[in-house]
Amino acid sequence: MTDEDGQQEPGADVDDTRTVADRVNDPERIRGLIAAYRQEHGVPDGRAAGTRTVRTQGSPSGPELDLVLRGRRVLTTAGVVAREVGVRDGTIVALEPLGAGLEARQVVELADDEVLLPGLVDTHVHINEPGRTSWEGFASATRAAAAGGVTTLLDMPLNSVPATVNAPALEYKRLFADGQVFVDVGFWGGAVPGNAPHLRALHDDGVFGFKCFLLHSGVDEFPHLEADELEADLAVLRTFDSLMIVHAEDSRAIDRAPRPDGAVYASFLASRPRGAENLAIAEVIERARWTGARAHLLHLSSSDALPMIASAKRDGVDLTVETCPHYLTLLAEEIPDGATAFKCCPPVREASNREALWEGLVDGTIDFVVSDHSPSTLDLKDLENGDFGVAWGGISSLQLGLSLIWTEARRRGIGLERVVEWMATRPAQRVGLRSKGTLALGFDADLAVFAPDDAFVVDAGRLHHRNPITPYQGRALSGRVRRTYLRGEPVDLEGTPRGQLLRRGEA
Ligand SMILES: [Zn+2]
Repeated sequence: MTDEDGQQEPGADVDDTRTVADRVNDPERIRGLIAAYRQEHGVPDGRAAGTRTVRTQGSPSGPELDLVLRGRRVLTTAGVVAREVGVRDGTIVALEPLGAGLEARQVVELADDEVLLPGLVDTHVHINEPGRTSWEGFASATRAAAAGGVTTLLDMPLNSVPATVNAPALEYKRLFADGQVFVDVGFWGGAVPGNAPHLRALHDDGVFGFKCFLLHSGVDEFPHLEADELEADLAVLRTFDSLMIVHAEDSRAIDRAPRPDGAVYASFLASRPRGAENLAIAEVIERARWTGARAHLLHLSSSDALPMIASAKRDGVDLTVETCPHYLTLLAEEIPDGATAFKCCPPVREASNREALWEGLVDGTIDFVVSDHSPSTLDLKDLENGDFGVAWGGISSLQLGLSLIWTEARRRGIGLERVVEWMATRPAQRVGLRSKGTLALGFDADLAVFAPDDAFVVDAGRLHHRNPITPYQGRALSGRVRRTYLRGEPVDLEGTPRGQLLRRGEA
């Protein structure tokens, strides 16, 4: 399932899964869906969806600025400093010491308790539209993102139907996203058995890389790769320098683990052992080493894998790693029986594991932090019975990520600069979003006004996520996003969506 699941019956017929995928993701079938959609909605043919980013070169002494933000605490590449930030045509074109007196059509003075941050970049979000829009859609997900200070997100290729495994599927998804997004949205492609001939076309159409699984994905239309297939696809991606992002749990290890069953969390945890992650991660590392391709490990949970990841990086393997707020803030020991809101795959592990992940983050072995926002409807979380073997695995935290990480980081004496490095700068750099994730001259004026000392209590009913369920219900958090700017304009959650659909290389 998201990563999220891998709950296929042991020994289930892989061919059945591949047949479902072939039918649902058939390019001809999808071309028919596109034609029908265009006719029904009056969308002309062509590369309609997907606004290009138009970048204008400006200088502060040229025409008037559109916006100036003045603050005592502005998080720049020089740290947190007092600055005036000048914006023209959506781009940061001036960055002067506070008091310089930049003029603009609109001047905003930040309050003394506010810090101006670059908007966050979340490269791991499952939006699920089209196909499973009742789980989450473009409008609801991007509202949640904006409310949480996230101004750019990348959508995963699965859980929506069809899966984004060929160019028509990407075009179809863009038709749904167009005009609905409150923040900028880019897309991952999928690498599944048999779609190697489609990878280059998806790359040329602007996906930021390709996701694959090494065990059942949780949805039949997105089958997983065997290790040799992973290696073959890595070799293909190497030819155009794309990035493979991997859900690394080993299929055989999960098949041989105890089955998850019932309401006891420890039983679920035993069904997703660290060894399954460790084994798959070792496989990814070696296949990346052999092919020279770029690889990225998704949602690291097992801290056991940190030494081999560090070792591979020292060897020069082109490898990065992410982890997620749930692995950094929750503890297996504290998860109540039947609390399936906490179910995700790989699972939340023990306190000692969490401490080791924080060490890996601080020492740079782990590169960044993303949400793995993976919603479902309430009934699929099996709340009535609380059976971890039945419930969908996936945690929604798109709106809460910054506050979650900041609350925990602050407790550990870690500064906001590092949090922003993990949640904005580094993810943007890894996926090639050259104008995102940093508050500096020439970057998009995507900004979050953050009040780090504000406190609030999480109330699922007040989140913008489509389905009101969260393992953080009732948790007291520090730090609140008060406003978000997208290319220099305040994001109005009740207004017209102004986000753009991004293509690799154009943002
Ligand atoms: Zn995911």
